[in-house]
Amino acid sequence: MIGEDLLKASEILKRGELVAIPTETVYGLAANALDPSAVAKIYEAKERPSFNPLIVHVASIKEAKKYVKEFPEIAEQIAKAFWPGSISLLLPKHSIIPDLTTAGLPNVVIRVPNHPLTLELLKSLDFPLAAPSANLSNTVSPTTAEHVQLGLGSKIDYILDGGKSAIGLESTILAIKQDKLVILREGGVSREDILAKIGIKVGVNFSNKIQSPGNLKKHYSTSKPLYIVQDINKHIGSNPNGRYSALLFEEKKVLCKSHILSKTYSMSEIANNLFDYMRRADNDNSDCILIEPIKEIGIGRAIADRIVRASSKI
Ligand code: AMP
Ligand code: MG
Repeated sequence: MIGEDLLKASEILKRGELVAIPTETVYGLAANALDPSAVAKIYEAKERPSFNPLIVHVASIKEAKKYVKEFPEIAEQIAKAFWPGSISLLLPKHSIIPDLTTAGLPNVVIRVPNHPLTLELLKSLDFPLAAPSANLSNTVSPTTAEHVQLGLGSKIDYILDGGKSAIGLESTILAIKQDKLVILREGGVSREDILAKIGIKVGVNFSNKIQSPGNLKKHYSTSKPLYIVQDINKHIGSNPNGRYSALLFEEKKVLCKSHILSKTYSMSEIANNLFDYMRRADNDNSDCILIEPIKEIGIGRAIADRIVRASSKI
């Protein structure tokens, strides 16, 4: 059921059941992060592998500190500048966080989401919420309550409707190594944003697998093939027999059906429409989806990451 009833959402969560919640990144499938049996329901409903840990959501910096062993100065700087917002921090977990929430790992990834309904919901609870994206594992992430309903409607009691997610991409995950910030997953806040806002340069992580096990190669997939091609028209010209659908970053004449994510190559608009338009292309009458590489600057890197993984066959 879809609705805007905060009291109902909070009652269901207090009973240890699941509720889908709106955030500015994507919709999350939430449960009490301190209750292993509630958390187990998330893995089950999403068919998520048990080695893939969940992000924990809290209402404030003060709350975040209850669930970690340390909150170093650099974490404080990030939190003060970007929370509520689309950065998640990897920090040593407090023992109160069950192993199931972090898939047995010693650290927890935590953030304060930037959505008024969800912040109010979090404030009404005396526990944090574990919430991965509210979709079946490996499918396209949901950015509206209707997307959640289509994918998981039969498995969850309530979907809290907060409108379309304002950012539309998952959060940026940062770890702290020797007092320096390292990016584990590109997301809604870019390295450039961090540098501009607090003057800190973020490094890149080279051992992603160990630190961030859910960064699987194949992820966010449409059900029909999605191909990244250098030039859509050239591709169609040399393979004229397919039924194609194109995802475009700006207005452009193409030789097939198209979905225009932004008329003007606006990165924030592209991010905001990406998952929704991947679904639309998936549901039209084409056999496959074509997309050109995106410029890898700013959140273009996070967009590129999602597109590359959506196009991966393994
Ligand atoms: P999401 O699927 O958007 O909820 O993001 C979850 C991702 O965050 C996981 O797939 C991991 O890559 C990362 N993550 C979450 N919790 C942890 C953790 N405790 N340790 C390492 N990575 C984590
Ligand atoms: Mg996800």
